[in-house]
Amino acid sequence: MLEPSTALIHHPYVAPAGFAAPQPGVFKASTVFFDNVAAMRSAEWKDKTGYTYGLHGTPTTYQLEERLCALEGALQCLLVPSGLAAIAIVSMAMLKAGDQVLIPDNAYGPGKVLAQGELKAWGIDHAFYDPLDPQDLAARITERTRLVWLEAPGSVTLEFPDLLAMARICKERGVVSALDNTWGAGIAFRPFDLSPGSAQALGVDISVHALTKYPSGGGDVLMGSIMTRDPSLHMRLKLTHMRVGVAVGANDAEAILRGLPSIFLRYQAHDQATRVLASWCQSRPEFAQVLHPALEGSPGHAHWKALCTGAVGGAAGIFTVIVRSGFSQLQVDRFCDTLRLFRLGYSWGGPISLVVPYELATMRRAWPAHLSRGTVVRFSIGLEAVADLQLDLEHALAVAFG
Ligand SMILES: *Cc1c(COP(=O)(O)O)cnc(C)c1O
Repeated sequence: MLEPSTALIHHPYVAPAGFAAPQPGVFKASTVFFDNVAAMRSAEWKDKTGYTYGLHGTPTTYQLEERLCALEGALQCLLVPSGLAAIAIVSMAMLKAGDQVLIPDNAYGPGKVLAQGELKAWGIDHAFYDPLDPQDLAARITERTRLVWLEAPGSVTLEFPDLLAMARICKERGVVSALDNTWGAGIAFRPFDLSPGSAQALGVDISVHALTKYPSGGGDVLMGSIMTRDPSLHMRLKLTHMRVGVAVGANDAEAILRGLPSIFLRYQAHDQATRVLASWCQSRPEFAQVLHPALEGSPGHAHWKALCTGAVGGAAGIFTVIVRSGFSQLQVDRFCDTLRLFRLGYSWGGPISLVVPYELATMRRAWPAHLSRGTVVRFSIGLEAVADLQLDLEHALAVAFG
Protein backbone atom coordinates (compact mmCIF):
# COMPACT_ATOMS: atom_id res chain seq x y z
CA MET A 1 0.00 0.00 0.00
CA LEU A 2 1.30 3.44 -0.98
CA GLU A 3 1.06 6.30 1.44
CA PRO A 4 -1.87 8.64 0.58
CA SER A 5 0.40 11.42 -0.69
CA THR A 6 2.21 9.02 -3.04
CA ALA A 7 -1.04 7.42 -4.15
CA LEU A 8 -2.36 10.85 -5.12
CA ILE A 9 0.74 11.72 -7.11
CA HIS A 10 0.94 8.33 -8.84
CA HIS A 11 -2.80 7.88 -9.39
CA PRO A 12 -3.33 5.05 -11.90
CA TYR A 13 -6.50 6.29 -13.61
CA VAL A 14 -6.17 6.95 -17.33
CA ALA A 15 -9.11 8.60 -19.11
CA PRO A 16 -10.41 6.74 -22.17
CA ALA A 17 -8.88 7.71 -25.49
CA GLY A 18 -11.02 9.12 -28.28
CA PHE A 19 -12.18 12.34 -26.69
CA ALA A 20 -13.25 14.71 -29.46
CA ALA A 21 -14.38 18.32 -29.10
CA PRO A 22 -14.24 21.52 -31.18
CA GLN A 23 -11.04 22.87 -29.65
CA PRO A 24 -7.76 20.93 -29.26
CA GLY A 25 -6.76 19.97 -25.73
CA VAL A 26 -4.29 21.96 -23.66
CA PHE A 27 -1.20 19.92 -22.81
CA LYS A 28 1.01 21.51 -20.19
CA ALA A 29 4.49 20.21 -19.49
CA SER A 30 8.07 20.95 -18.82
CA THR A 31 8.77 17.27 -18.03
CA VAL A 32 7.70 14.64 -20.54
CA PHE A 33 7.88 10.93 -19.55
CA PHE A 34 9.74 8.21 -21.44
CA ASP A 35 8.86 4.50 -21.21
CA ASN A 36 12.46 3.38 -20.80
CA VAL A 37 16.07 4.54 -21.03
CA ALA A 38 16.38 3.49 -24.66
CA ALA A 39 13.37 5.64 -25.57
CA MET A 40 14.86 8.53 -23.62
CA ARG A 41 18.23 8.22 -25.40
CA SER A 42 16.75 7.95 -28.86
CA ALA A 43 14.15 10.69 -28.46
CA GLU A 44 14.48 13.28 -31.20
CA TRP A 45 13.64 16.91 -30.43
CA LYS A 46 14.33 18.16 -33.94
CA ASP A 47 11.12 17.02 -35.60
CA LYS A 48 7.56 16.25 -34.59
CA THR A 49 7.98 12.47 -34.29
CA GLY A 50 7.70 12.56 -30.51
CA TYR A 51 8.23 14.54 -27.33
CA THR A 52 11.34 15.20 -25.26
CA TYR A 53 10.79 18.29 -23.13
CA GLY A 54 8.15 21.01 -22.92
CA LEU A 55 10.57 23.53 -24.41
CA HIS A 56 10.69 21.53 -27.66
CA GLY A 57 6.98 21.05 -28.14
CA THR A 58 3.75 19.54 -26.89
CA PRO A 59 0.63 18.35 -28.75
CA THR A 60 -0.80 21.86 -28.19
CA THR A 61 2.14 23.73 -29.72
CA TYR A 62 2.50 21.22 -32.59
CA GLN A 63 -1.15 21.75 -33.50
CA LEU A 64 -0.78 25.51 -33.42
CA GLU A 65 2.38 25.36 -35.56
CA GLU A 66 0.69 23.23 -38.20
CA ARG A 67 -2.38 25.46 -38.40
CA LEU A 68 -0.22 28.56 -38.72
CA CYS A 69 1.71 26.87 -41.55
CA ALA A 70 -1.61 26.33 -43.31
CA LEU A 71 -2.55 29.99 -42.80
CA GLU A 72 0.67 31.37 -44.27
CA GLY A 73 1.57 28.67 -46.79
CA ALA A 74 4.65 27.64 -44.80
CA LEU A 75 6.13 24.21 -44.12
CA GLN A 76 7.82 24.81 -40.78
CA CYS A 77 6.94 27.00 -37.80
CA LEU A 78 8.59 28.04 -34.54
CA LEU A 79 6.64 29.66 -31.71
CA VAL A 80 8.14 32.39 -29.53
CA PRO A 81 6.75 34.51 -26.67
CA SER A 82 6.16 37.69 -28.71
CA GLY A 83 6.36 39.16 -32.18
CA LEU A 84 9.46 41.06 -31.16
CA ALA A 85 11.07 37.81 -29.93
CA ALA A 86 10.49 36.39 -33.43
CA ILE A 87 12.41 39.32 -34.93
CA ALA A 88 15.19 38.86 -32.34
CA ILE A 89 15.54 35.08 -32.86
CA VAL A 90 15.72 35.48 -36.65
CA SER A 91 18.40 38.15 -36.22
CA MET A 92 20.40 35.99 -33.80
CA ALA A 93 20.19 32.93 -36.02
CA MET A 94 21.14 34.65 -39.27
CA LEU A 95 23.75 37.21 -38.20
CA LYS A 96 27.21 37.17 -36.64
CA ALA A 97 29.87 39.82 -35.97
CA GLY A 98 30.93 41.55 -39.18
CA ASP A 99 27.64 40.86 -40.96
CA GLN A 100 25.16 43.49 -42.05
CA VAL A 101 21.35 43.54 -41.90
CA LEU A 102 19.15 45.82 -44.00
CA ILE A 103 15.92 47.18 -42.51
CA PRO A 104 13.21 49.33 -44.13
CA ASP A 105 13.20 52.84 -42.67
CA ASN A 106 9.50 52.46 -41.79
CA ALA A 107 9.97 49.12 -39.96
CA TYR A 108 8.36 48.22 -36.63
CA GLY A 109 10.20 50.54 -34.19
CA PRO A 110 11.41 48.04 -31.57
CA GLY A 111 12.99 45.96 -34.38
CA LYS A 112 15.05 49.01 -35.41
CA VAL A 113 16.00 49.58 -31.78
CA LEU A 114 17.18 45.96 -31.52
CA ALA A 115 19.56 46.60 -34.45
CA GLN A 116 20.80 49.83 -32.86
CA GLY A 117 21.23 48.15 -29.46
CA GLU A 118 22.11 44.46 -29.09
CA LEU A 119 23.00 43.78 -32.74
CA LYS A 120 25.36 46.76 -32.84
CA ALA A 121 26.94 45.71 -29.53
CA TRP A 122 27.54 42.24 -31.01
CA GLY A 123 29.42 43.77 -33.98
CA ILE A 124 26.53 43.44 -36.44
CA ASP A 125 26.01 46.43 -38.72
CA HIS A 126 22.66 47.67 -39.95
CA ALA A 127 21.45 50.14 -42.55
CA PHE A 128 17.96 51.49 -43.17
CA TYR A 129 16.72 51.53 -46.76
CA ASP A 130 13.93 53.45 -48.51
CA PRO A 131 10.91 51.11 -48.37
CA LEU A 132 9.45 52.63 -51.54
CA ASP A 133 12.59 52.17 -53.65
CA PRO A 134 13.75 48.63 -54.49
CA GLN A 135 16.82 50.13 -56.20
CA ASP A 136 17.85 51.72 -52.90
CA LEU A 137 17.65 48.27 -51.31
CA ALA A 138 19.66 46.72 -54.16
CA ALA A 139 22.33 49.42 -53.90
CA ARG A 140 22.82 48.80 -50.18
CA ILE A 141 23.42 45.05 -50.46
CA THR A 142 27.13 44.27 -49.98
CA GLU A 143 29.04 41.00 -49.58
CA ARG A 144 28.52 41.41 -45.83
CA THR A 145 24.71 41.59 -46.09
CA ARG A 146 23.25 38.40 -44.64
CA LEU A 147 19.66 39.38 -43.93
CA VAL A 148 17.11 41.76 -45.44
CA TRP A 149 13.99 42.64 -43.47
CA LEU A 150 10.80 43.44 -45.38
CA GLU A 151 7.58 44.83 -43.98
CA ALA A 152 4.32 45.36 -45.85
CA PRO A 153 3.08 47.92 -45.18
CA GLY A 154 5.51 49.78 -42.91
CA SER A 155 4.58 50.35 -39.28
CA VAL A 156 2.58 53.51 -38.51
CA THR A 157 2.99 55.24 -41.90
CA LEU A 158 1.74 52.22 -43.87
CA GLU A 159 3.68 52.73 -47.12
CA PHE A 160 3.23 49.56 -49.16
CA PRO A 161 6.49 48.38 -50.79
CA ASP A 162 7.04 46.54 -54.06
CA LEU A 163 7.46 43.25 -52.16
CA LEU A 164 7.79 41.13 -55.27
CA ALA A 165 10.64 43.25 -56.65
CA MET A 166 12.39 43.25 -53.28
CA ALA A 167 12.04 39.49 -52.80
CA ARG A 168 13.44 39.04 -56.31
CA ILE A 169 16.44 41.27 -55.56
CA CYS A 170 17.18 39.24 -52.41
CA LYS A 171 16.96 35.96 -54.36
CA GLU A 172 19.19 37.24 -57.16
CA ARG A 173 21.78 38.52 -54.70
CA GLY A 174 21.63 35.38 -52.55
CA VAL A 175 20.58 37.19 -49.37
CA VAL A 176 18.01 35.72 -46.97
CA SER A 177 14.80 37.77 -46.86
CA ALA A 178 12.60 37.93 -43.77
CA LEU A 179 9.17 39.52 -43.88
CA ASP A 180 7.28 40.92 -40.91
CA ASN A 181 3.89 39.55 -41.98
CA THR A 182 1.84 40.75 -39.01
CA TRP A 183 -0.34 43.10 -41.09
CA GLY A 184 -1.04 40.62 -43.91
CA ALA A 185 -1.56 37.82 -41.37
CA GLY A 186 -1.50 35.20 -44.14
CA ILE A 187 -4.79 36.64 -45.44
CA ALA A 188 -4.02 39.79 -47.48
CA PHE A 189 -1.37 37.93 -49.53
CA ARG A 190 0.74 34.76 -49.50
CA PRO A 191 4.25 35.60 -48.22
CA PHE A 192 5.83 32.54 -49.85
CA ASP A 193 4.08 33.08 -53.17
CA LEU A 194 4.10 36.75 -54.13
CA SER A 195 3.45 36.13 -57.83
CA PRO A 196 0.49 33.74 -57.84
CA GLY A 197 -0.01 31.91 -61.09
CA SER A 198 3.58 32.24 -62.30
CA ALA A 199 5.48 29.03 -63.03
CA GLN A 200 7.88 29.31 -60.12
CA ALA A 201 6.74 30.58 -56.74
CA LEU A 202 8.74 33.62 -55.68
CA GLY A 203 8.41 34.60 -52.07
CA VAL A 204 10.29 35.50 -48.95
CA ASP A 205 12.52 33.00 -47.13
CA ILE A 206 11.21 33.71 -43.64
CA SER A 207 7.89 35.10 -42.44
CA VAL A 208 7.53 36.35 -38.88
CA HIS A 209 4.11 37.09 -37.47
CA ALA A 210 3.07 38.82 -34.23
CA LEU A 211 0.31 36.37 -33.31
CA THR A 212 -0.45 38.96 -30.63
CA LYS A 213 -2.51 40.77 -33.30
CA TYR A 214 -5.03 38.99 -35.56
CA PRO A 215 -4.46 35.32 -34.65
CA SER A 216 -5.14 36.19 -31.00
CA GLY A 217 -7.83 38.73 -31.76
CA GLY A 218 -8.34 39.45 -28.09
CA GLY A 219 -5.63 41.89 -27.09
CA ASP A 220 -4.80 39.48 -24.29
CA VAL A 221 -1.97 37.22 -25.52
CA LEU A 222 1.60 37.87 -26.62
CA MET A 223 3.11 35.39 -29.09
CA GLY A 224 5.10 35.26 -32.30
CA SER A 225 5.90 32.77 -35.03
CA ILE A 226 8.80 32.20 -37.41
CA MET A 227 7.81 30.40 -40.60
CA THR A 228 9.81 28.93 -43.44
CA ARG A 229 9.54 26.57 -46.41
CA ASP A 230 13.11 25.30 -46.24
CA PRO A 231 14.15 22.49 -43.85
CA SER A 232 17.77 23.63 -43.50
CA LEU A 233 16.82 27.26 -42.89
CA HIS A 234 14.23 26.08 -40.36
CA MET A 235 16.85 23.94 -38.59
CA ARG A 236 19.22 26.89 -38.34
CA LEU A 237 16.46 28.96 -36.72
CA LYS A 238 15.36 26.06 -34.53
CA LEU A 239 18.88 25.54 -33.15
CA THR A 240 19.02 29.19 -32.05
CA HIS A 241 15.46 28.94 -30.71
CA MET A 242 16.47 25.85 -28.69
CA ARG A 243 19.75 27.29 -27.37
CA VAL A 244 18.15 30.54 -26.27
CA GLY A 245 15.38 28.64 -24.51
CA VAL A 246 12.29 30.50 -25.62
CA ALA A 247 8.99 28.66 -25.28
CA VAL A 248 5.32 29.59 -25.16
CA GLY A 249 2.83 28.67 -22.47
CA ALA A 250 0.17 26.06 -23.28
CA ASN A 251 -2.69 28.31 -22.18
CA ASP A 252 -1.44 31.07 -24.46
CA ALA A 253 -1.10 28.60 -27.35
CA GLU A 254 -4.67 27.50 -26.66
CA ALA A 255 -5.84 31.12 -26.76
CA ILE A 256 -4.33 31.52 -30.22
CA LEU A 257 -5.85 28.21 -31.35
CA ARG A 258 -9.17 29.58 -30.19
CA GLY A 259 -8.71 32.76 -32.22
CA LEU A 260 -7.73 31.09 -35.48
CA PRO A 261 -11.12 29.71 -36.60
CA SER A 262 -12.59 33.22 -36.74
CA ILE A 263 -9.54 35.03 -38.11
CA PHE A 264 -10.84 35.40 -41.69
CA LEU A 265 -14.19 36.80 -40.52
CA ARG A 266 -12.57 39.17 -38.06
CA TYR A 267 -9.94 40.33 -40.55
CA GLN A 268 -12.64 41.13 -43.09
CA ALA A 269 -14.76 42.96 -40.52
CA HIS A 270 -11.79 45.07 -39.34
CA ASP A 271 -10.88 45.70 -43.00
CA GLN A 272 -14.34 46.89 -44.09
CA ALA A 273 -14.83 49.21 -41.13
CA THR A 274 -11.32 50.62 -41.53
CA ARG A 275 -11.87 51.49 -45.20
CA VAL A 276 -15.11 53.33 -44.33
CA LEU A 277 -13.50 55.38 -41.57
CA ALA A 278 -10.26 56.06 -43.49
CA SER A 279 -12.28 57.36 -46.48
CA TRP A 280 -14.38 59.50 -44.17
CA CYS A 281 -11.22 60.96 -42.61
CA GLN A 282 -10.03 61.91 -46.11
CA SER A 283 -12.97 64.30 -46.32
CA ARG A 284 -12.09 66.02 -43.04
CA PRO A 285 -10.28 69.38 -43.25
CA GLU A 286 -8.29 68.68 -40.04
CA PHE A 287 -6.21 66.01 -41.77
CA ALA A 288 -3.51 66.79 -44.32
CA GLN A 289 -3.12 63.13 -45.29
CA VAL A 290 -4.74 59.76 -44.61
CA LEU A 291 -2.44 56.76 -44.88
CA HIS A 292 -4.05 53.43 -45.72
CA PRO A 293 -2.75 51.19 -48.53
CA ALA A 294 -6.20 50.62 -50.07
CA LEU A 295 -6.78 54.38 -50.50
CA GLU A 296 -5.90 55.81 -53.87
CA GLY A 297 -2.96 58.17 -53.41
CA SER A 298 -1.64 56.49 -50.26
CA PRO A 299 2.09 55.74 -50.70
CA GLY A 300 2.54 52.37 -52.41
CA HIS A 301 -1.18 51.96 -53.20
CA ALA A 302 -0.40 50.42 -56.62
CA HIS A 303 1.79 47.74 -54.99
CA TRP A 304 -0.96 46.94 -52.49
CA LYS A 305 -3.45 46.69 -55.35
CA ALA A 306 -1.21 44.36 -57.32
CA LEU A 307 -0.66 42.02 -54.37
CA CYS A 308 -3.71 42.19 -52.09
CA THR A 309 -6.78 42.22 -54.30
CA GLY A 310 -6.66 38.54 -55.25
CA ALA A 311 -8.81 35.61 -54.18
CA VAL A 312 -8.97 36.72 -50.56
CA GLY A 313 -6.84 39.84 -50.17
CA GLY A 314 -7.49 42.67 -47.79
CA ALA A 315 -6.04 45.67 -46.05
CA ALA A 316 -6.21 44.87 -42.32
CA GLY A 317 -7.60 47.21 -39.66
CA ILE A 318 -5.24 50.13 -39.13
CA PHE A 319 -4.91 53.56 -40.70
CA THR A 320 -3.01 56.71 -39.89
CA VAL A 321 -3.81 60.40 -40.26
CA ILE A 322 -1.46 63.36 -40.38
CA VAL A 323 -3.10 66.27 -38.59
CA ARG A 324 -2.47 69.58 -40.39
CA SER A 325 0.66 71.32 -39.09
CA GLY A 326 -1.43 74.40 -38.23
CA PHE A 327 -2.84 72.54 -35.24
CA SER A 328 -0.77 72.25 -32.06
CA GLN A 329 0.45 69.10 -30.34
CA LEU A 330 -1.78 70.08 -27.43
CA GLN A 331 -4.84 70.01 -29.70
CA VAL A 332 -3.86 66.61 -31.06
CA ASP A 333 -3.42 65.28 -27.51
CA ARG A 334 -6.83 66.71 -26.62
CA PHE A 335 -8.35 64.96 -29.63
CA CYS A 336 -6.92 61.60 -28.50
CA ASP A 337 -7.98 62.19 -24.89
CA THR A 338 -11.52 63.15 -25.92
CA LEU A 339 -12.19 59.93 -27.86
CA ARG A 340 -14.36 57.62 -25.79
CA LEU A 341 -14.71 54.39 -27.77
CA PHE A 342 -11.14 54.59 -29.09
CA ARG A 343 -8.90 53.74 -26.15
CA LEU A 344 -5.28 54.88 -25.83
CA GLY A 345 -3.15 51.79 -26.17
CA TYR A 346 -0.52 50.03 -28.27
CA SER A 347 -0.99 47.04 -30.54
CA TRP A 348 -3.98 46.12 -32.71
CA GLY A 349 -6.13 43.19 -33.83
CA GLY A 350 -8.46 43.14 -30.84
CA PRO A 351 -12.16 44.02 -30.50
CA ILE A 352 -11.61 47.50 -29.04
CA SER A 353 -10.56 50.40 -31.25
CA LEU A 354 -7.30 52.06 -30.28
CA VAL A 355 -5.53 55.37 -30.95
CA VAL A 356 -1.85 56.30 -30.59
CA PRO A 357 -0.21 59.69 -31.34
CA TYR A 358 3.33 59.26 -32.71
CA GLU A 359 6.34 61.55 -33.03
CA LEU A 360 7.39 60.69 -36.55
CA ALA A 361 10.44 62.97 -36.50
CA THR A 362 12.08 60.68 -33.92
CA MET A 363 11.21 57.52 -35.87
CA ARG A 364 12.67 58.19 -39.34
CA ARG A 365 16.05 59.22 -40.75
CA ALA A 366 14.36 62.32 -42.20
CA TRP A 367 10.77 63.40 -42.77
CA PRO A 368 9.83 61.41 -45.91
CA ALA A 369 9.01 63.53 -48.97
CA HIS A 370 5.82 61.53 -49.59
CA LEU A 371 4.37 62.49 -46.19
CA SER A 372 2.74 65.80 -45.31
CA ARG A 373 4.10 67.73 -42.36
CA GLY A 374 1.99 67.48 -39.25
CA THR A 375 1.24 65.25 -36.29
CA VAL A 376 0.84 61.54 -36.88
CA VAL A 377 -2.02 59.65 -35.23
CA ARG A 378 -2.66 55.94 -35.82
CA PHE A 379 -6.02 54.25 -35.39
CA SER A 380 -6.63 50.55 -34.92
CA ILE A 381 -10.23 49.75 -35.76
CA GLY A 382 -11.87 47.15 -33.54
CA LEU A 383 -15.14 45.30 -34.01
CA GLU A 384 -17.53 48.03 -32.83
CA ALA A 385 -20.23 49.42 -35.16
CA VAL A 386 -18.71 51.84 -37.69
CA ALA A 387 -21.39 54.48 -37.11
CA ASP A 388 -20.52 54.68 -33.40
CA LEU A 389 -16.82 55.00 -34.14
CA GLN A 390 -17.46 57.77 -36.68
CA LEU A 391 -19.59 59.70 -34.17
CA ASP A 392 -16.81 59.33 -31.61
CA LEU A 393 -14.26 60.75 -34.09
CA GLU A 394 -16.61 63.59 -35.09
CA HIS A 395 -17.19 64.56 -31.48
CA ALA A 396 -13.49 64.54 -30.58
CA LEU A 397 -12.59 66.52 -33.73
CA ALA A 398 -15.13 69.19 -32.80
CA VAL A 399 -13.87 69.42 -29.21
CA ALA A 400 -10.16 69.52 -30.08
CA PHE A 401 -10.05 71.44 -33.37
CA GLY A 402 -13.45 73.14 -33.60
C1 LIG B 1 3.05 44.24 -32.77
C2 LIG B 1 4.05 44.05 -33.83
C3 LIG B 1 5.23 43.35 -33.60
C4 LIG B 1 5.62 42.85 -32.23
O1 LIG B 1 4.72 41.98 -31.67
P1 LIG B 1 4.66 41.81 -30.07
O2 LIG B 1 4.00 40.50 -29.89
O3 LIG B 1 3.91 42.97 -29.54
O4 LIG B 1 6.08 41.79 -29.60
C5 LIG B 1 6.10 43.18 -34.64
N1 LIG B 1 5.83 43.68 -35.86
C6 LIG B 1 4.70 44.35 -36.12
C7 LIG B 1 4.45 44.85 -37.51
C8 LIG B 1 3.77 44.56 -35.13
O5 LIG B 1 2.68 45.26 -35.40
